[in-house]
Amino acid sequence: PDVVAVLDTGFDHVDLQVNPLYLRGRYRKLSRGVPQTRWPCRRCRGKGCARCGGTGKMYPTSVEEVIAAEVMRESGGTGHALHGMGREDVDARMLGRGRPFIVEIKEPRKRRIDLNAAVRRMNTSGIVEVDQLTPATGADVVALKEDRAAKTYRVLLRTVPPVDEAKLKGTLPVLVGEPIAQRTPGRVVHRRADTIRARRLLSAEVVGVEGDRAELRVTAEAGTYIKEWVHGDGGRTRPSLAERLGAACEVLELDVLDVHDGG
Ligand SMILES: [Zn+2]
Repeated sequence: PDVVAVLDTGFDHVDLQVNPLYLRGRYRKLSRGVPQTRWPCRRCRGKGCARCGGTGKMYPTSVEEVIAAEVMRESGGTGHALHGMGREDVDARMLGRGRPFIVEIKEPRKRRIDLNAAVRRMNTSGIVEVDQLTPATGADVVALKEDRAAKTYRVLLRTVPPVDEAKLKGTLPVLVGEPIAQRTPGRVVHRRADTIRARRLLSAEVVGVEGDRAELRVTAEAGTYIKEWVHGDGGRTRPSLAERLGAACEVLELDVLDVHDGG
């Protein structure tokens, strides 16, 4: 049910529980520098300060805010959340077919809304594109979060000293399928437990090499830290591409090209 009336006969009143509105789709994120979900300012925790220019946020907008704003324009509501099948880094684009998500609107005033109109407006943002919105449930959120979909990435990297194409092409196949031990990256260990996870690459190929730049296409198991696999994270990820090449590797650009969900 959308709304549940709870009668408390002892106190002579009725509480209305308005269930959230859930809508699912796939999003593409066309800009770098946009987080998936609203990111409160680290210093003021949302109240507004000099660091965040009074916005209370680390970034002006997010995938969540673009999507939720257009749904709530139709549905009303008191709050929102975005549940993604994993998340890309703030500076990574999400391309290809997009990433499955479910947007949750709390206490909507209206449920029968013009979904196509909402999608059309999202897609004029220049930041986020959504394929379509269809009704979902709270149970769908659980299934979405449990999906262990492999991801395919485009990686643009710089090698120091420059590594030639032949060496890259000889090294990548050796790394595919080899167990990777990834200690929680230095960049996230302040907010996550410091553990070691085992992951694997499913495929890796060289797209092109120009001077000290190389472009790769890499498919990895869910939860693989790709940047760390490239540069090694000071030895926290082993083996890494940098370690095997004997060269420092810097990730210049990272894009998610596909999320292989549903199988
Ligand atoms: Zn602030």
